[in-house]
Amino acid sequence: MNERLTLKRCQELLRRREVSARDLTQHFLRRIERLEPSVHSFLEWDAADALAQAETADRALADGATHQKQPLLGIPVAIKDNIAVKGQPLRCASRILGDFRSPYDATVVERLRQAGAILLGRLNMDEFAMGSSTENSAFGPTRNPWDLDRTPGGSSGGSAAAVAAEEVPAALGSDTGGSIRQPAAFCGCVGLKPTYGRVSRYGLVAFASSLDQIGPLTATVEDAALLLGVIAGHDPRDATSLPDPALDPDLEGEPGLRGIRLGLPREYFGSGLAPEVEQAVHSAIRHLEGLGAEIREVSLPHTPYALATYYVIATAEASANLARFDGIRYGLRVDGQDPIELYKRTRGRGFGPEVKRRIILGTFVLSSGYYDAYYLRAQKVRTLIRNDFLDAFRRVDLLVTPVTPTPAFRLGEKVSDPLQMYLSDVFTLSCNLAGICGISVPCGFTESPRLPIGLQLLGPPLGEATLLRVAHAYQQTTNWHKERSPLALA
Ligand code: GLN
Repeated sequence: MNERLTLKRCQELLRRREVSARDLTQHFLRRIERLEPSVHSFLEWDAADALAQAETADRALADGATHQKQPLLGIPVAIKDNIAVKGQPLRCASRILGDFRSPYDATVVERLRQAGAILLGRLNMDEFAMGSSTENSAFGPTRNPWDLDRTPGGSSGGSAAAVAAEEVPAALGSDTGGSIRQPAAFCGCVGLKPTYGRVSRYGLVAFASSLDQIGPLTATVEDAALLLGVIAGHDPRDATSLPDPALDPDLEGEPGLRGIRLGLPREYFGSGLAPEVEQAVHSAIRHLEGLGAEIREVSLPHTPYALATYYVIATAEASANLARFDGIRYGLRVDGQDPIELYKRTRGRGFGPEVKRRIILGTFVLSSGYYDAYYLRAQKVRTLIRNDFLDAFRRVDLLVTPVTPTPAFRLGEKVSDPLQMYLSDVFTLSCNLAGICGISVPCGFTESPRLPIGLQLLGPPLGEATLLRVAHAYQQTTNWHKERSPLALA
């Protein structure tokens, strides 16, 4: 099997009985075994368990089960290490969880199982999803399949790299400030951050609960739509899950975009944007215009405050969420003379430096005397940022922007400079603050070295159908997403 196996292609091959679920699973397991020493996308996988799931799928297929009812039947997918799978390790790429195993399945995992998917393994990430390069993993970094000296982005770097290395046709990641879209851009795949509340967070280890969403990383927009369709939907176990997130993208029609208004936010095209990224994004915009879309300039005036706002809110929520890792309830325990010493030793040993930095920052902005000045003010600015978007979406259907200011950077390049690292998310984190949806699709390459460049489309709350339709129209009429990484072809 030398062709690219997208989810759609896997469906087709299974339907025509050209392969079995076992063949597919073995194919991907072989690739994982061969490529992991170079790429390190996975934290763990269980070949025997995957093959047992494949056998069940093959029996169901033989009994006449179809992809209409179970769209992922017999198709392997992998998930980020912050999503709970019953009986499997759940570590968030941290030492603090020790050998903890999850006692239950996340809702998205239940839905994957109901759809017939084969769960292939757990993917590397920045510790607790804090980072933009997967270098904050306690278990070593993942490498970019386009250039092994570069990062795949983060925090869902393992998910993006696994898809780009074709170790798996699709993966789930999580996005709090860009962690699906940024690695998708760096690795030349498609990454979708759903509207806040579209996908249940039950069983996702919380980083910043008001910003976190689970979403797909895939090779094509069609596959992203398929996977989103499987995982989305109301869940009574997540109080922030939306009541009626019906999703029905029409991807069957012509790629014409007449009647679609696309906004270019002036604040996203300023200084700091690498020239090759700017050129690729501008030619993608001209392409969309050529398909009939109307292009308008818009303004999101509070954009300059987004980064600071995000790092106040995200760290505040993280400091509260991570208080539960205390050496008493889960995972690692380093004993001490008294409980306070036990906490200190466990947390001192268990968390990496970036997680500690964020807990300290978050505790500070929530502390009495500073709460009003930082946390409360950030919440007010967050409302202004959301209103900017809602105003813009009165004039346009979607916004078009770069995903990242630069292509994938080198491993080690930004580890000692947190601000530089944080800046790689300037274009993605406003979407989380506003609770809207966004997608990253490949739109070109830098010349030397040859690295993927991403285009970001942002849509209003529950605007995924339009987002997917426009992104799909772009892919129907371009070939960037068909390019395969050197590691995929190795
Ligand atoms: N890179 C951003 C951060 O470090 C976003 C991470 C994410 O989306 N999980 O917070």
